[in-house]
Amino acid sequence: MSGVLRGRGGLFAALAIAFCGCDARPQRAAPQPAPTSSSPATAAVVRAPAGWLKGQLHAHTGRSADSATDPAEAAAWYAARGYDFVVFTDHNVVTETASPPGLIVLRGVELTQNLRTCDPPPDPGERCLLHATALFVRPDPDPIAFDPGEGRSRLDLYARAVDRGIALGGLVQLDHPNFHHGADASLIVALARRGVTLVEVENRAVDSGNDGDATHPSTEAMWDAALARGARVFGTATDDAHHYGDADRVRARGGTAYTGDRGFVMVRAERSPEAIRAAIATGDFYASRGLVLDRVDLGRDAIAIDARRGSAAVTFELVADGRVVEVARGAVARWDLSRRIEKVVRVRVRDETGSLALTQPVWR
Ligand SMILES: [Zn+2]
Ligand SMILES: [Zn+2]
Repeated sequence: MSGVLRGRGGLFAALAIAFCGCDARPQRAAPQPAPTSSSPATAAVVRAPAGWLKGQLHAHTGRSADSATDPAEAAAWYAARGYDFVVFTDHNVVTETASPPGLIVLRGVELTQNLRTCDPPPDPGERCLLHATALFVRPDPDPIAFDPGEGRSRLDLYARAVDRGIALGGLVQLDHPNFHHGADASLIVALARRGVTLVEVENRAVDSGNDGDATHPSTEAMWDAALARGARVFGTATDDAHHYGDADRVRARGGTAYTGDRGFVMVRAERSPEAIRAAIATGDFYASRGLVLDRVDLGRDAIAIDARRGSAAVTFELVADGRVVEVARGAVARWDLSRRIEKVVRVRVRDETGSLALTQPVWR
């Protein structure tokens, strides 16, 4: 494997080169993440409150060509950081590894299609890097391959990955929509109809483009737009980690480290694979960029959220049909929605450090 292929999507990058003869290096120049995120878990470990589980829905191991960490070592890395479960999502291969004490390791796969072009075509300098993860899949010893599909519609390309993920028995998550601007709100709407359950609103890899730019909306705005058009998809935060104990060595040789414990989900479930899957399938979880909540009760007519006891004051924003309509500051938020006319309501919680939690939508 040539060094030029190292980076997100490297395994399929190699396959794409075989198919299309193009240089498929997928990543672009990006700022380095804070080095603390790859250091040993000496900082305060964030753990789930009673009744909740801290989980990771997108992480790579050495079974991906762009990661070199053994699955058992990656599992231990997450266990040391307070995770209750992790789904390994290697590129086009279902990874199976034992669960270390305290951590449930679940099977997943990142269905990875890296193409030079598709319809609509990519922006200049970008590629069609169309990725979706299938979570909680059944064992599958064979690598997953897609025919090249150059020039086909983005919807067709994503849809065949969605179909494959469902055929594997998985819940399907649309990955990093703003990475090479693979997807937009219209695609999320169409793919939700096709069977996508989750969309990565906060994929925390350094080059995911979550904030958008002058010509592309943020992933959160994209999610709101899709919700407004009837998509029933839940929002996730994930690491998309590729580097663990090796992150500092990757940086030392001038590479970009894709590290973890930056985006996760907090799931209200008992400690079993079946309960975790059921809670995620029904949206009984929230996405977090580090912020943890003690209470999240979302009803059609009332919302009650408590910040974690002892945490600094936080800001609660009620987002209704894509707009912030009410703001509360302090330790708790209580809203009566019975007179509100909006169709889709969710809550964004922020603290002064930039930490963030996003609840799932309430459809009314
Ligand atoms: Zn990806
Ligand atoms: Zn990935």
